[in-house]
Amino acid sequence: MNDCKQLETLIPSYLDGELSEAQAAPLRRHLLACQACRNAAQGERALKAWFQAEPAVAVPDGFAARIARRAFEGDTGEPRVAAGAERETPILRFVLAATSVAAAVLFLLAIALHVAELPGTDRLRADSASPQPLEEVLRELDRVNAESERAGDAATAGAGEAARGE
Ligand SMILES: [Zn+2]
Repeated sequence: MNDCKQLETLIPSYLDGELSEAQAAPLRRHLLACQACRNAAQGERALKAWFQAEPAVAVPDGFAARIARRAFEGDTGEPRVAAGAERETPILRFVLAATSVAAAVLFLLAIALHVAELPGTDRLRADSASPQPLEEVLRELDRVNAESERAGDAATAGAGEAARGE
């Protein structure tokens, strides 16, 4: 379909909020009708979130992909809508789903970055056979935090100074 190619080029601008309402309206209508373009927009959005949060330290291979896959499998963190909110439109649902996937990726990326800076986190490696439940990860982080507090991490303090010095 010719529309797809044409409208797909607008998706990045749309996600950046750079389109006028006159431009955005037909694109929104098309996204509602076209699964392929919806997927493209969703992928674009996740990718954008990923690059905006591009880390200074390496994250284990496949970590974000694994989280994103898990999110797409239904663990979207989609807000429980209060009764009476069933009139939620499909586009809103789409935006919520896309947003929660991006948020999940960012949240876990933040955890990953935190973990990467801390010592003794071998048990948190994301390449373990099965994904760790979030609660377990958070418990582990608490433990690691307590340890590094005791250790009085001089490197972290130094990095903090440098950041403040800028
Ligand atoms: Zn399309």
